Amino acid sequence: MSFRTRVKRLVQIAERKGMAFSGCPGCRGRRDQTVWVYIRHDADDVRTRSGDEPAACRICGQVPERVIEVVERVVYTREQAAAALAAREGLNV
Ligand SMILES: [Zn+2]
Repeated sequence: MSFRTRVKRLVQIAERKGMAFSGCPGCRGRRDQTVWVYIRHDADDVRTRSGDEPAACRICGQVPERVIEVVERVVYTREQAAAALAAREGLNV
């Protein structure tokens, strides 16, 4: 018997005994949670994701958490910032 079948059967038994459930039994405990995913966006347009992205629920297939993506954009590289500073101050780098 698969995990999904076992959970559904347990929910049916509990409902017959008068216990009320709302939402998917596999992910109802994850519904109010928030997951932060960080994306580094480099000056050369490369995007790198970090942080643990939530997995889909094994029963309903949905991702129940609120996922917030934080994009950290690198506007200048160190070399570009040094060159801009040198140009502004009339220095040769
Ligand atoms: Zn679910």
